[in-house]
Parts: sequence; structure tokens; C-alpha cells
Amino acid sequence: MAQPELSDNLIEQFGRQILVPGIDEQGQLNLSKRKVAIIGLGALGTVASQYLIRSGIGEVHFIDPDKVEESNLHRQINYTLEDVGAFKAAISKNKLQRINDITKIVSHQTNYQNYLKENENENFDLIFDCTDNHANKILSSQHSKKNKVAYVSISINSTEGIYFSQNYQKEATFCFACLFPQTDINHRCLNSAMIGPVAGFVTSLACTKIIFALASDSNNLKNEISLIDLLTSDINKLQLDKINCPH
Ligand SMILES: [Zn+2]
Repeated sequence: MAQPELSDNLIEQFGRQILVPGIDEQGQLNLSKRKVAIIGLGALGTVASQYLIRSGIGEVHFIDPDKVEESNLHRQINYTLEDVGAFKAAISKNKLQRINDITKIVSHQTNYQNYLKENENENFDLIFDCTDNHANKILSSQHSKKNKVAYVSISINSTEGIYFSQNYQKEATFCFACLFPQTDINHRCLNSAMIGPVAGFVTSLACTKIIFALASDSNNLKNEISLIDLLTSDINKLQLDKINCPH
């Protein structure tokens, strides 16, 4: 197979990443043509925004209606004291848009539900839900499944995290509601106690898988749930291919 024509600019900026087996020149070229949505620019989404933009993805959309609060700063790495009161999506775009000249950043100061109403036909290659909202995750998961878009969701609580991904090609693939049907169960893992490094670790795990998926020609992920405990260093991966989603 002929090698892809990579510009000197791409080679200069991403040479070390191109050396990684599984990414290579073709993968870097694929990354530069992908379009990704990050929903939620909090503890998880800010880490995701840093690593995904630095990887050279072509277009990244930030979707978040919230403004920066002082209580966010111990874990949300895009913000400092002078950003308090400003929209997270806009601040994140301002801070990250000079990282490279490959990635176009688009910020939406709205929640995902309203975003979908106004942008029903927006085509993403991958949707990454970094919110702490159970209803949002069910919506984003089912929208991705219906539109056959690669999908990842992560959550953290205290020293634990959950990684969840959907394979968009399998007809019988599960959705977020299949695994976490009840808000009260999931609530233990959402919107609660947090320290920054746990967000960093769980998001880094997800971003590694996402960068490889976007670099590949198939742009797909496995059906997977991993439960991560940072204090004990345990990662338990569940294989759940056989679930038939009724949703
Ligand atoms: Zn389902």
C-alpha cells in the first residue's frame, strides 16, 4: 500500500506520536480529518480537551452551559482564578486554540439537549460524554447508537472511575441505559467527591483508546465497561457483548 502524503507541518508537530505503532502516518492523517464532540468541560472534559486537541484531531466541539466557579479550580485544569464567572466552553477554546494549527475548536455555551435540538444533523466521528449527569449520558449514548457514531462516557467518584464505550457497528450493542438504568444507582458515581488526579487518570485511559480509534480506518471502539480503583490500582474490565438493548 502506498504511504500517505503527510505535510512537513504534520510531521514536525506530531513526529513522536506518528512513531507509535498503530498510529503511524496514516493514523495521523486520519486524526487530522476527524470531528469529535466533548460534552462537559469539567474535571474530565478539561483533561480530555487538552489531550485530544494536542493529538491533532481536525475539529473538536465543546458543549457546556456552565460558567467557571472557584470550587472547580482544584480539578478543572483549563481554568484559573481570573476565569471565574466566564463560560467554560469559551474559556477552554481561548486557552487551547493556539496549541497547534491543525485543530479547529468550536464552542457551544448550551447543554447537550438544547444543542441536539438546534444541531440535529451535525455529524461527529466520536462523541465523548464527560458530564456528571445521568440523563445526559443516556441521551448521548442513545443518540450515538441511533446515528452509528463511536461513543465513550466516563464518570468518577472519590478514588474510583468508570469507563464505558460502545461499538457502533454491532446491531445488538448496548447503550448507557442498559447498564445504568437507575439514576439512584449511578448517582454514587456522579457529581460527588472528587480529586484531580483521579479525573486525570480515568480521562487519560479514555483518551488513549479514543486517539487509537480515531487514528484507525474503522474509527470504532469495543463494547466495554472498565471499573477503575486508583487507590488499589485495580482495573476490572467487563465484556458485555451479549446484551440486547431494548431501548
Ligand atoms: Zn439500551
